[in-house]
Amino acid sequence: TPGSGGTGADGAPSYTIDTSKPHPARMYDYFLGGKDNYEVDQEAAEQFMKAAPEVRDGVRANRYFMHRAVRHVVAEGGVRQILDIGTGLPTEPNVHQIARAVAPETRVAYVDNDPIVSAHSRALMDQDDTSVVLADLRDPRGVLDHPEVRRVIDFDRPVAVLLVAIVHFLSEAQDPDGIVATLRDALPTGSYLVLSHATGDLHEDHREDAAAIYRRATASMNLRPHSRILDFFGDFTLVEPGLVTVPDWRPDKPAKDGAPPIGIYGGVARKN
Ligand code: SAH
Repeated sequence: TPGSGGTGADGAPSYTIDTSKPHPARMYDYFLGGKDNYEVDQEAAEQFMKAAPEVRDGVRANRYFMHRAVRHVVAEGGVRQILDIGTGLPTEPNVHQIARAVAPETRVAYVDNDPIVSAHSRALMDQDDTSVVLADLRDPRGVLDHPEVRRVIDFDRPVAVLLVAIVHFLSEAQDPDGIVATLRDALPTGSYLVLSHATGDLHEDHREDAAAIYRRATASMNLRPHSRILDFFGDFTLVEPGLVTVPDWRPDKPAKDGAPPIGIYGGVARKN
């Protein structure tokens, strides 16, 4: 059976739970120290940690980038609607908790193509002003038009779209540029794109051995250089400091001395 993130015989995304293959969401949960993962995920994650020993610092730094970016778009950007695509397994604080600490009326639609993520998220987070949607980024129109997305998000008012640590699961053949452009085009002025993406730029081995571990997972890992990741922001204006490694995006505390380089770039951009 194809796993979630895989495709069925007809090429359409399939939403089955597969415990025979590592799932990116469950590996990410393992890196974060969570409990929602299986042996197959733990084994793949442990192998990844051998090839990329900084990964646990990396996912934590990515998560903290997401916290700061969400606070920025709500507090400075005035956005009150968030479309979080590639939610991941619930990890406190979740996006709605971060946003509502600033503006309690913020509405959030959570989208993921992993049925385990939806099941866990639904139990915790499905509320009047929050929705949990099982849908696939590879069908961006399907995400934008989903009734449960439309129930909480009004595309005539500014929206922050979060693509945090997800676009590297799209291969070039899946047209990541077209997919992200479809999302950008659906947003009104004053909207934001928050995006982070894994890269091999900062490591001599380009982390190809680590990325290869995802070949037996339900989605491949496609590391990209800085210039390619910049493309995903299109004509949106990056806020300072631009596209930088996630610990360097508006840090709220100084970097630790001797901290390993983190191969994840993150940026926040506004539609004018
Ligand atoms: N954004 C969260 C979680 C990142 S893990 C964070 O940064 O903390 C990446 C998530 O993207 C996983 O939950 C995985 O299931 C999801 N994902 C991967 N490919 C996807 C796709 N094509 N459509 C929807 N979700 C996808």
